[in-house]
Amino acid sequence: MNRDTFLSLALLGWFVALAIVEVAVTRRPRHSSTEGSDARLVTNFGFTAILLIVGTVPPLANIAAAASSHGLHIGLASHVPIPWPAILVLTLVGQTFAAYWAHRWMHHSRMLWRIHRVHHADRAVDVSTSLRNHPLELLVSVPAAALVTLAIGAPIFVVTASSTIIVAATIWEHAEISLPPRIDRALSTLILTPRLHRLHHNPERIIHDTNFGTLFSLWDRLFGTLCVIRDREEVGLDHQLARPDHFIDQIRSPLLSIGG
Ligand SMILES: [Zn+2]
Repeated sequence: MNRDTFLSLALLGWFVALAIVEVAVTRRPRHSSTEGSDARLVTNFGFTAILLIVGTVPPLANIAAAASSHGLHIGLASHVPIPWPAILVLTLVGQTFAAYWAHRWMHHSRMLWRIHRVHHADRAVDVSTSLRNHPLELLVSVPAAALVTLAIGAPIFVVTASSTIIVAATIWEHAEISLPPRIDRALSTLILTPRLHRLHHNPERIIHDTNFGTLFSLWDRLFGTLCVIRDREEVGLDHQLARPDHFIDQIRSPLLSIGG
């Protein structure tokens, strides 16, 4: 089994394990009959299938491979001897920094919000939401991550490992899991927990314009967008023009000018 197959299976195992925990232990009472419906899951997994076809992890590794195969020794790690674990940490810090600002931009640009609101339109939040992203988002997220990857000059296996950790963190943040408050507080000093990310899916704009981070809570803490309030369980968007559980409606919803 090659390394990429192993990492893909590890991610699938992580997704399934968290889904089992959601169903067996912590699923919340539904606020409406449509939450968690089959149509919603078909929509979410429809977007997942598109992302798998386009590929979310390979592009960054391909960029790193292309740079090295063309003899381009660019990036910090090509010129300074740094042990690979330190390069991995640096790559994670760099990629999450880029992802934070790309995500924040998608909330503040009216045009990009039309694309990103597809993710927020989900009327429940669980592991199936984690890969419900309109494919046009890749036009923002991949260049941002690629710039950081090239600037750091990490080896291909480090880029693949970093991207895998970030996808695993994205699945984790969307999991419908309620941690004991003390554990949640302790973890959230370093990482984004499902509770903090659930606030990012709140219908109120003043709340969903917070907790933009992936994996680390550092960037929200540093740039003043961390929200830790409790008792705000609602998720989704008010005044939706496109049917949130309808895959084709959601694919073409960036053409609709208002909402959310
Ligand atoms: Zn968002």
